[in-house]
Amino acid sequence: MPTEFELIARYFARPAPQALLGVGDDAALFRPSCGMALAVSADMLVMGTHFFPETDPRALGHKALAVNLSDMAAMGASPRWVLLSLALPGVDTRWLRRFAGGFFALARRHRVDLVGGDTTRGPLNLSVTILGEVPPHASLRRDAARPGDDVWVSGMLGDAALGVAHGKGRVTLAEGELVRCMRRLERPNPRIELGIALRGVAHAAIDISDGLAADLGHICERSRLGADVYVAQVPRSPLVARLADRRLAHEVLLAGGDDYELCFTAPVRGRGRVQALGKRLGLPLTRIGTMRRGRGVRLLNADGDAVRIGRHGFDHFG
Ligand code: ADP
Ligand code: MG
Repeated sequence: MPTEFELIARYFARPAPQALLGVGDDAALFRPSCGMALAVSADMLVMGTHFFPETDPRALGHKALAVNLSDMAAMGASPRWVLLSLALPGVDTRWLRRFAGGFFALARRHRVDLVGGDTTRGPLNLSVTILGEVPPHASLRRDAARPGDDVWVSGMLGDAALGVAHGKGRVTLAEGELVRCMRRLERPNPRIELGIALRGVAHAAIDISDGLAADLGHICERSRLGADVYVAQVPRSPLVARLADRRLAHEVLLAGGDDYELCFTAPVRGRGRVQALGKRLGLPLTRIGTMRRGRGVRLLNADGDAVRIGRHGFDHFG
């Protein structure tokens, strides 16, 4: 049985070229780039709340980092350094090897260094703190939307929530469909390049972790505005488009979390720039609505009538 220190050395101490001092001391040291603001955020994955005991540890390693990278994307920040705090019920070397494999594969792809953390015994809990950099005047804040802004969304929504719906027995997916949905749910692809490209183009942004309606609602609240969303324009995967159960289709599309796409607002005169950068990144960017004076998100069908959904998004205490 490895000791706590052997465990850290074996699975988590890696070279940190972007730091002055990485894992192994009382604190890590790094030098932020001149003129940049530090963007800092933390996100936790708790067993039973965010994932099930049987989840592949590689997927967990990926997701624990991905949800934090997604917060950097939503600020327009370049991710640089991460801290990883783990509570583990015991030492399961196979589990640790796979978890670290998933975590570092994604860290390498986005060139972020693991510079420290904490490891204790306890009910399985994965907590990541991430630090990134953003030019202070080009950050994508939730409170920066303006009336008349277009509302945009990246990628296609609904597949991750469809995977959850299958798990709850609300829909039965074919084998191949389920694989696709579980991939979206367990291996979200944080939109880092998009967030950086939107500096100076978008006004406000948020990543969709709790559902489009709820997350756009946060932009509305912080910006003291309302939003109209044209539901027919919201980009959906072929699977969601084919769903016979329309209520479920609306729910996974508008209230389903876990897609980790970006929702952002940009001035009407910036439409050409947004479309051009979508093409450059090979990522569909779709205009789905408008920011307006007032409060709250209105979900509208093609006739301009309100679309009702059972709930607006995920809330741990709601
Ligand atoms: P301290 O007792 O000073 O808190 P620890 O024994 O908790 O130090 O950790 C020793 C070193 O290992 C520190 O540099 C800490 O940041 C790092 N560390 C601990 N757990 C992890 C982890 N899960 N991933 C990365 N680094 C870790
Ligand atoms: Mg410690």
